[in-house]
Amino acid sequence: MTERVLEIRERIIVAAARAGRSPDEITLVGVSKRHSAESVRAAWAAGVREFGENYVQEARDKCAQLSDLSELRWHLIGSLQSNKARLAVSLFEMVQTVDRLSLAQALSRAAVERQKELSVLVEVNLAGSANRAGVAEAEALALCEQVSALPNLRLCGFMGMAPLCADVEATRPHFARLRQLFEGLPDSKRQVLSMGMSGDFEAAIAEGATLVRIGTALFGQRPSVAE
Ligand SMILES: *Cc1c(COP(=O)(O)O)cnc(C)c1O
Repeated sequence: MTERVLEIRERIIVAAARAGRSPDEITLVGVSKRHSAESVRAAWAAGVREFGENYVQEARDKCAQLSDLSELRWHLIGSLQSNKARLAVSLFEMVQTVDRLSLAQALSRAAVERQKELSVLVEVNLAGSANRAGVAEAEALALCEQVSALPNLRLCGFMGMAPLCADVEATRPHFARLRQLFEGLPDSKRQVLSMGMSGDFEAAIAEGATLVRIGTALFGQRPSVAE
């Protein structure tokens, strides 16, 4: 595991240098969905502190098994139903998948109840197809304004996934569009641009990603059901 972490960190350093950026601007989030708590523990031992989960229940079990680890920060990167907002607020530092006002309102209410400040990203649908998660690009900034007005939510930027492309270079225009949207945010909300996964994170870094979400390249192939 240590070797994989070092290899990914090295690739981040190279991609950042190529873009004339500092690698310190780029946060590595290990995507641990369907991998065991023990895998997360191994990545933590190798220095990874931020982890992404797609399902609230699965994250709850893992959090419970790993409560002895310090400085662990969990990100929700899968779609969330409003009725799970309370559980999500109790588990995650950051919810990266806010794609509608009703969900932001539910998270805000839950965060107020818990007296917690929750960091959130607005997820943007870069594929432009209705069956993909995320708010439409044309509506993203308006949603950001509404989210910013809600108590106990701290809007930090955007998350997006490039559509499946024939080659990695073809993902770049999609990442570039998200970067442009990001630049339209007020300074104080322009902190996190979450884009790039195992197959395309170097392209995302070239286009300005400040957070990459890496599953397979870190943990190996995902088991078909949770371990
Ligand atoms: C699963 C997942 C990832 C990680 O994907 P890999 O290709 O395994 O790196 C990143 N982001 C989201 C939103 C995911 O669901």
